[in-house]
Order: sequence, then C-alpha cells, then structure tokens
Amino acid sequence: MKTRVFSGMQPTGNLHIGNYLGALKNWVRIQHDYECIFCIVDLHAITMFQEPTQLKAKIAETAALYLAAGIDPKVSAVMVQSFVPAHAELAWMLTCVTPVGWLERMTQYKMKAAKQESVGDGILQYPVLMAADIMLYQAGIVPVGEDQAQHLELTRDIAQRFNSLYGDTFVVPDTALPTVGARIMGLDDPTVKMSKSETGAYHAVALLDPPDKIRKTIMRATTDSNPGVNFDSAGAGVLNLLTIYQAFSGATDQEIRAQFTGMRYGDLKKRVADMVIAHLEPFQERYRQIVSEPGYLEGVLREGAERIAPIANDTVRLVKARMGMG
Ligand code: ATP
Ligand code: MG
Repeated sequence: MKTRVFSGMQPTGNLHIGNYLGALKNWVRIQHDYECIFCIVDLHAITMFQEPTQLKAKIAETAALYLAAGIDPKVSAVMVQSFVPAHAELAWMLTCVTPVGWLERMTQYKMKAAKQESVGDGILQYPVLMAADIMLYQAGIVPVGEDQAQHLELTRDIAQRFNSLYGDTFVVPDTALPTVGARIMGLDDPTVKMSKSETGAYHAVALLDPPDKIRKTIMRATTDSNPGVNFDSAGAGVLNLLTIYQAFSGATDQEIRAQFTGMRYGDLKKRVADMVIAHLEPFQERYRQIVSEPGYLEGVLREGAERIAPIANDTVRLVKARMGMG
C-alpha cells in the first residue's frame, strides 16, 4: 500500500506564491508517488469571521487553484473538510487527550492572540483540528510550508499520546518541507512571512494577480542599501527575491550565484518579475478554463469526498472502539 499524504489550505484571502512554493508545488510533484488527499480546510477558515457568501466563493476558488496548479483529481482526492463530518468528530476526541499547555505554546496562536482583544476558542483549538485532519486518514507524510512545522510536531505528540493511552491506533506523520521556498517572506516587509491575512497592497503576489500588478509588487519589494547583489551581505529582502526566483526556476545554488552576483536590484527585480509572470500566466489560463466548465468543480469535490469518507469513518469507528465508545 502507498503511503498516504494529506495537506490543505484555508479558503481565505488570496492564495499567493508563498502558498504555491511552500506547499502546492510540492503536492503536484509527489501526487503520483503517494496516495494523496488535498483538502480545502473551511473549518479552519472559520476560526476567524468569514463573510458567508465570500467563504463559499473562496472554497470553489481554492479548489480550482489546486487543479490549475496541476493536481489531477483522478489521481488525488480533492475535497472540502466540512463535507466529511468525521474531521470535527475526531477533533473532539483528540481535544480530550491534548493538554491546553501544548496549545498555548504554539507560535501562531500567540501571534494571532496578540492581535485581538478577545481570542476565539477556535484559534487555540486549531492545531487539534489540524491533527485530526491528518490522523483521520492515517497520513504518513504532510507536505507544508515551514510555518506549519510546529503544528506538525504537535500532531506527532498528539498521535503518540493517543497511542500510548489507548494502544497503537495512529500513524505518526512526518513533515515534508520543500528545500527551496519553505518560507517566502512578505515583499513589503521581509521580516514577516508572506500571508493571505496580511492586507498591505504590495505584501504578496497572489496567484491570480494580473501581470502588471505582479510586476509592480515585485519592483516595489523592500531590499537593502547595498548597490547590488552580494551573497555575503544580502539582506532578507534580497534573499527572498533570490529564493522566489530559484524556487520557480529550479536552478541550483551555484547557478543562482553565477547569474546574480553583482546585479543591480532593479535588474534583479525585473528578472524575478519575468520569471513569476512566465509561470503564472499559463496557470491563470488553466484556472479560467476550469471555472468556466459548468458543474465540473462541484463534481470533483463531491467525488473526492465520496472517495475518502470511508477511510475517515473507519478511523472514527476504530478510535471510538479504542476509547470504549460506539
Ligand atoms: P493565513 O494568513 O490565512 O494563515 P497563509 O498564507 O498562512 O494564510 P494557509 O492557508 O494558512 O496560508 O497555509 C496554506 C499552506 O501554505 C501551508 O502549507 C503553509 O505552510 C503554506 N504557507 C503559507 N505561507 C507560506 C509562506 N510564506 N511560505 C511558504 N509556505 C507558506
Ligand atoms: Mg497560515
């Protein structure tokens, strides 16, 4: 049996090149080597208020972006989290084996909590639901960006704790990070990671941005006071631009050094913008085709959920039996 892979994205905001290079690109690369489930995690999205009609539209958009990136729904299951009630059911059972101290230590929780006066319980519980998403399918590999590595460690801890309390039940998953692009930084501020929830107009390149917007955002990217690219003293903004170029091009470290050493920042930005646009234009064309086909996406998502629901239901049955319920 092939190792199972699970990963997902929140249908919030606009998917950006960080999401693509950190996760989606890897999914496409490994989809034929493993049994993959790619999820649109709408139950995670609602940990922050989402305007309902907007959320519905974003769920469809996210699914279409997976397919436009090259996920083949005949090979991988593409599904929406809330279509399969077992996610929420298992999350409760895992909540009951998770010390609250483990959750309060999560960096993302601390950062999100610091931004709000009143913190929703969902923000704290989020990583338990994420553990449930993964463990429900007994996934062995979870390809994500670097910001999710801590949540993956927590998933491993929860799986191990459950196994030690109730006997061997769950696969303990491994994290798979890309070698280049695991943490793309904000173009306006290279000290913070690029995020859908950051609102600055020149923070991110969205996957559906038109070419002129992409170029403008990259040309405005924050760099440093060096006259040109110096690999020994380059600041975070310049390194981020080089990483974006390298991740899209697939070039080696040596090739990047040879191409860019001494280059003026204006020229570097032009090269990066050309590279990003060359990749996103055909991607956007596929996106337009996918969304113009009536009923196609709905069919993909229905079929995806139908395909994997039996696995999820089997796990919930097993967990209930182990815990003495059902
Ligand atoms: P939000 O601000 O809503 O949390 P996000 O940009 O962090 O949005 P998520 O939906 O939380 O996006 O994450 C989807 C996937 O993209 C995860 O695998 C995550 O690790 C990855 N990812 C997110 N941001 C980056 C980034 N800047 N660089 C690399 N990977 C990223
Ligand atoms: Mg995030």
